[in-house]
Amino acid sequence: MLMDPQKRQLYDQYGHDGVSQTFKGGGFSWDDFTHFDDLQDILGNLFGGSHFEDLFGFGSRRGAQRQSRGGDIHVILKVTLEEIVNSAKKQFKVNRFEGCTVCGGKGGTDFSPCGQCGGRGQVKTQSRSFFGTFTSIGTCPACKGSGQTIKTPCAKCSGTGRSRVTRTIEIKTPRGVANGQYIVLRGEGHFGRGGNGSIIVQFEEKPHMYFERRGYDLYIRMLTPYSKLINGGSIEVPGFNGRRERVKVKKGSSAPEIIRLKAKGMPRPDGGYGDMYVELDLKPLESTDKNVSKIIEELKNYEGEPKPRPRGE
Ligand SMILES: [Zn+2]
Ligand SMILES: [Zn+2]
Repeated sequence: MLMDPQKRQLYDQYGHDGVSQTFKGGGFSWDDFTHFDDLQDILGNLFGGSHFEDLFGFGSRRGAQRQSRGGDIHVILKVTLEEIVNSAKKQFKVNRFEGCTVCGGKGGTDFSPCGQCGGRGQVKTQSRSFFGTFTSIGTCPACKGSGQTIKTPCAKCSGTGRSRVTRTIEIKTPRGVANGQYIVLRGEGHFGRGGNGSIIVQFEEKPHMYFERRGYDLYIRMLTPYSKLINGGSIEVPGFNGRRERVKVKKGSSAPEIIRLKAKGMPRPDGGYGDMYVELDLKPLESTDKNVSKIIEELKNYEGEPKPRPRGE
């Protein structure tokens, strides 16, 4: 379950909470991932498209009905923080196998029982190892599990039953989705006679110019003029969708100072919001104006001597 480095990273970063998030409306929950089908999907992906039951020879489907599922398509979708906040629609293209429209995915219209498996769709193979002899049941390589061979292959797909098609897929960015999390679009992957595969859309967060995201909280640094820190006042902090947040700076503030804005962070799957943390940093004085130099020179009388800053302050 934690084989995927991105998921592991998420797990390390946020602990259990990070991976147990559920998305309302998006129809996705991390709990889905432990279901056996999903494990198959992911393992299938890791092992280059071969399926769990093909590898280990088990599965509930039997005989000629046990046909191979279509492969999964893994998409990494880059999204901005704004798109995550707004649950924006995103489009991407996939080039996938779809069932042939002429033969309905069967590869032909005229069939006879497969000679290799006798129509069962499965073959037994024996392997010897240190632990003994193992019998495993796998999909028949001759008929690929269908139990039949085509007498007259379909003219359009040459008997493969599928053809490559490029499709545009549209999804809504799950609200509050985090880097490395994903959604599974079942049945949207490659065509397979035993069912279509899935499209797994994994989200990659584009770095924001000002905001740093930690969980559902946002961090931003504001370069604040010295006069504002000393005399107090208010500053405007950028938000999403052109909104700005007004932040009160207390008289006699000293940089760095962190101000917490409750519920002004990223939307959470439970409908709430994280917090925004505004760090007031001292804005360096850029002016070389003579008048400014004079004022600064006068400041000396009130500043006193430099002193070391105690740790943790
Ligand atoms: Zn066809
Ligand atoms: Zn066969």
